[in-house]
Amino acid sequence: MTRFFSSRHRSLVPYTPGEQPRDMAYVKLNTNESPFPPSESVISAVAEEVKKVRLYSDPTCKETTDAIAARYGVSPDMVVLSNGSDEILNFCVMAYCDEKHPLVFPNITYGFYPVFCEINGVPYEEIPLNSDFSVNVADYTAIGKNIVIANPNAPTGIALSLSDIETIVSSNPDNIVIIDEAYVDFGAESAVKLVHKYDNLIVTQTFSKSRSMAGARLGFSISSPAIASELHTIRYSTNPYNVNRMTLAAGKAAIESDGYYMENCRRIEENRAYTEKRLTEMGFTVLPSKANFLFAKSDRIEGGTLYTELKKRGVLVRHFEKPLISDYNRITVGTREEMDIFLAKTLLILEETK
Ligand code: PMP
Repeated sequence: MTRFFSSRHRSLVPYTPGEQPRDMAYVKLNTNESPFPPSESVISAVAEEVKKVRLYSDPTCKETTDAIAARYGVSPDMVVLSNGSDEILNFCVMAYCDEKHPLVFPNITYGFYPVFCEINGVPYEEIPLNSDFSVNVADYTAIGKNIVIANPNAPTGIALSLSDIETIVSSNPDNIVIIDEAYVDFGAESAVKLVHKYDNLIVTQTFSKSRSMAGARLGFSISSPAIASELHTIRYSTNPYNVNRMTLAAGKAAIESDGYYMENCRRIEENRAYTEKRLTEMGFTVLPSKANFLFAKSDRIEGGTLYTELKKRGVLVRHFEKPLISDYNRITVGTREEMDIFLAKTLLILEETK
């Protein structure tokens, strides 16, 4: 560390993104990307827009914001776009959390939440999940603190019902509740409809998973117009051109081909059920997932060993060497063919380690 690095950041432990290997072609089931290509209209919109790349993007993101607002039944002044949903989550922490307003989240959840807190000097509290890895709603009811909950949660895949979310939001009226719906399109219930009723709710979503755009970086929040306006204050004070013009064009085209993407989500759900069944037959414990991944462990092999053995055989999954979950691996649900390769290699590894 140089003597120049700010004392504010000296103890910062950065978020570790999943591997994006370049050494060989893997069956890549480690970062919850969609296995399906973008729609034809997204590809042509990007190809057209790149011709204008010498010009700045629209800082108001108007056309794409309007398209998202119409799709979700809200007004455009309730929508804020960001460079992936990571950015809007960071904006939320910047806008609403400080020394006196800590952030509360489960002890097993998206690993970026504590990092957003650390970089913004915000204290945080981690609340243990139930022993079955579900969120205990009572732990978040009337606690008078800012809260972020991923629904479905990651890496467990377990979802809360809309009424549970409403209990948390309604019982903390003087605090911000962020519901991170990165994986909501794979079978959970969205809290977007609650934003009309509760002015303390921020719902965030992403185009990275269900809309096959992880590499384009597009996320958004839906909230009351007053909250959205404050998030815009943060956005304009950070980077008014946070979403590039190719991504804006891609996002608009993706919303216009929504049927294609929602059909892909249904295919992922089918492949998820298939993979869960096969893994269970092999003796795995598989958590009930509403996301595009499964969180699974086997008594026959350590989580880290299975991860390493799969990687040697060209299949990449995500392993977290953390207390309580180190027995597990998170497996992104891909195409049926990808899942069959994963299942066949897993079976082979189990047989070899007998
Ligand atoms: N929330 C959760 C729970 C996630 O798993 C991810 C993906 N790593 C994100 C948000 C952020 O995704 P993106 O920035 O690609 O929208």
